[in-house]
Amino acid sequence: MSDPYTLTYPYDAPPANGTIQEVAPGVYWLQMPLPMSLKYINLYLLEDDDGWTVIDTGIRGDETRELWQTIADDCLQGKPITRIVCTHMHPDHTGQAGYLFETWRAPLYMSFREYYQARNMFTMMSGPNWQMTEYFQRTGLTFDFQGRIQNRKSDFQPQQQDRPIPPSFIRLTDGDTFRASGQDWQILTGSGHSPEHVCLYSPDLRILISGDQILPIITSNVSVFPSEPEGNPMVGWLASHERFKQLLPNDILVLPAHNLPFYGVQERLQQLIDHHEDRMLIIEENCVEPSTAVDLLPHLFNRKLEDHTRFMAVGECIAHIHCLMGRGRLERILDNEVYHYRSIDPSLLKRAHPKGHKPLADTPEVT
Ligand SMILES: [Zn+2]
Repeated sequence: MSDPYTLTYPYDAPPANGTIQEVAPGVYWLQMPLPMSLKYINLYLLEDDDGWTVIDTGIRGDETRELWQTIADDCLQGKPITRIVCTHMHPDHTGQAGYLFETWRAPLYMSFREYYQARNMFTMMSGPNWQMTEYFQRTGLTFDFQGRIQNRKSDFQPQQQDRPIPPSFIRLTDGDTFRASGQDWQILTGSGHSPEHVCLYSPDLRILISGDQILPIITSNVSVFPSEPEGNPMVGWLASHERFKQLLPNDILVLPAHNLPFYGVQERLQQLIDHHEDRMLIIEENCVEPSTAVDLLPHLFNRKLEDHTRFMAVGECIAHIHCLMGRGRLERILDNEVYHYRSIDPSLLKRAHPKGHKPLADTPEVT
């Protein structure tokens, strides 16, 4: 059977560190390394006569900062960076925003919710509290999550040489037009992976800069976090995909933040919808007898989950569970301080996995 989700990739590999590659008139692609399993992030530059707009900035630390210096020296033709756009709050996208903001006196453009969530990130990681402890207890996790959270806190704390997120920003809102590289870019926002993720779409260039909202190979993490324990991000994620399917023609080139640029946005959006619906079906099937979130993990992730990935996988599992609860398909029972989930009407269950479905490469990471 042919794979109904076939994508095509016009480039075999990303540009080498410290170099840029033109992918359309005035639109350039570069990569920066990442310490986690993702290995690198794609960033983009939009060129105008008076300077450059940076789309996403890379993770904090000396290596990326030095690469930015190389890019400025070798690739920017003596023109300044005039604007910084961060698609969303995650540290691999915002990590160098403060450095670029101060070095170039360039304003930061973000959506309202992403900006304040980025500023709030260190507060959210500021250590265990009763509510966070309760959240993890109720998932069924038994490892030393409090110690783990403390370790993660140190991962996220800015080092002395890192500059914090800039103290001001210019708001991007869905429906705005952002003029760059001689083109009108439409601002499209989505939610689920982060609260108000910005994508930039040029109908004339037939290009979408998608950030983490649409990735071609890995799946973006969609999680419930202890900072919003009753959150339901999967509803927004699926709704965003349906909306983007309505808005985007299939012949556009998608420039994602991870993996390679690709064609086939309609296939990919449908594949991601099918993937999450499939995950939810698996959860329902395994909750005919009450199950905890931790009990469900081996059914959702076919690889060993340790430490941070286990922590993120639980959040992703609960995102699917809360979506099912909202649909009236699962009920939640608190038993001995742990939540158990039970299918409300197992007679409705039938195997309906999409044709040609293959498990996707889940990546429970903060991308
Ligand atoms: Zn992300």
